[in-house]
Amino acid sequence: MTTTALETVAHWIGGERVSEASRHGEVTDPATGAVARRVAFASRADVDRAVAAAQEGFATWSELSLAKRSNVMFKFRELVVARATDMARVITAEHGKTLDDARGEVQRGLEVVEFACGASHLLKGEAAEQVGTGVDSHSLRQPVGVSVGITPFNFPAMVPMWMYPLALACGNAFILKPSEKDPSASLLMGEWLAEAGLPDGVFNVIQGDREAVEALLTHPGVASVSFVGSTPIARYVYETATAHGKRVQALGGAKNHAVVMPDADVDIAADAIASAAYGSAGQRCMAISAVVAVGAAGDALAEALEARVDAVRVGPGADDGSDMGPLVTGAARDRVVDAIAAGVGEGAELRRDGRGLSVDGHDEGFWVGPSLFDRVTPEMSIYREEIFGPLLILLRTETFEEAITLVNENEYGNGAAIFTSDGRTAREFEHRAQAGMIGVNVPIPVPMAYFSFGGWKHSLFGDLHMHGREGVQFYTRGKVVTERWPQQRSGAEYGFPTAHR
Ligand code: NAD
Repeated sequence: MTTTALETVAHWIGGERVSEASRHGEVTDPATGAVARRVAFASRADVDRAVAAAQEGFATWSELSLAKRSNVMFKFRELVVARATDMARVITAEHGKTLDDARGEVQRGLEVVEFACGASHLLKGEAAEQVGTGVDSHSLRQPVGVSVGITPFNFPAMVPMWMYPLALACGNAFILKPSEKDPSASLLMGEWLAEAGLPDGVFNVIQGDREAVEALLTHPGVASVSFVGSTPIARYVYETATAHGKRVQALGGAKNHAVVMPDADVDIAADAIASAAYGSAGQRCMAISAVVAVGAAGDALAEALEARVDAVRVGPGADDGSDMGPLVTGAARDRVVDAIAAGVGEGAELRRDGRGLSVDGHDEGFWVGPSLFDRVTPEMSIYREEIFGPLLILLRTETFEEAITLVNENEYGNGAAIFTSDGRTAREFEHRAQAGMIGVNVPIPVPMAYFSFGGWKHSLFGDLHMHGREGVQFYTRGKVVTERWPQQRSGAEYGFPTAHR
């Protein structure tokens, strides 16, 4: 089949699909390796069109009452609940993750929609009367305007849903630039939001690559940029968009550590860590990719992890029997295979090797089986680099102090977890670990929607985390009003006004 005969994943601009494009990308089915459809790549002119539609949408939407805005969110919530499996199937077909996992990501995104249904409460300001004699003050929060979201391949539904439900509930218009690797879920979002009553132009989707991103980051009509992806691109997005006067939150990569203390229950820890390391083939920003076993925990943990690895059923995400699907692309698979070779070359002990895995009837799929390295040391590339695949590395330390030093000296600070049965050690870890999200006997501490999500160090550029209160703050600007209603003239005063006059 030639690529021109394939279905084209379109943009969503002003409430309709727009398919014309002079450049395209290929979207593959990771379980078969076949090109399944192509995706339009936006030009600067397409971006101009989307921004114009969003500006028009913003003019109407931002003037609607809070009740009308949250009503749309409530209706959208009902549609997503009813059609979660449809969305999950689209995700599995392009990302490769299991259907169960895809349903889980839709559910976690839905929680932000539910939070956004009640955003009116968080948009209230503060008031104080008599701040001066006969003078009152109150504060407001108003939408920023056109907000942009640029998102990664690994959560094609959930990560956009960290952004647009709150952006919209706060009165903004939104332009989503999803990953070109799995773009189709974004169109369902556009269509379902329209069905829920969102006016045309308030939510738009621009498909594409760096050309679209650059046009968005530098566009004078864009007020804010939310980004989630790898650290080098997060840094570039932050630097470029702030230089163009936008407010930016840019979440980057991760190397999440799990510290396992000798007093931890080894089986509980191994179950949790294996799920977090190999679920979604390790392609989660909250995946545990480095385990630090303290003291006597090491040998028993390594054996317990091996047993979990041996039990993982790798296969197409759409098959009920699969625990883990393929990598998203051939390039992603090759990167993981190369990382394993590098680890072997650097002298780490490869206890389980997922290279060369084949899956019956899916010879061309992008497979790598779950892999496990032991006795990894901090200077090795498999420790320093984010690999983003089903590769777990085990480091060993003598003490808790050495373990927390590893966590804190790592370039990334997205999440970190500890497994222990001792409350004081857990409390010490919580207090000292330099990461934005901490798990205590919990491997993937993805906060609920009413908390905020974000990391430290090179896992976040910008100040505000996503969703929760910080999301509302990001998508609104503050305004303070000071007013008086004088009954008589008091004459001109040229000194600086204070409340004591
Ligand atoms: P990526 O950085 O390659 O792509 C993210 C987005 O940026 C995509 O929309 C892509 O089209 C765009 N992009 C890519 N290269 C670009 C370039 N040169 N110029 C402009 N735009 C560009 O990330 P990915 O591979 O899609 O996703 C995986 C990464 O995302 C991992 O590093 C993972 O840790 C990270 N991630 C982080 C979080 C978090 O919460 N911190 C969550 C999910 C994923």
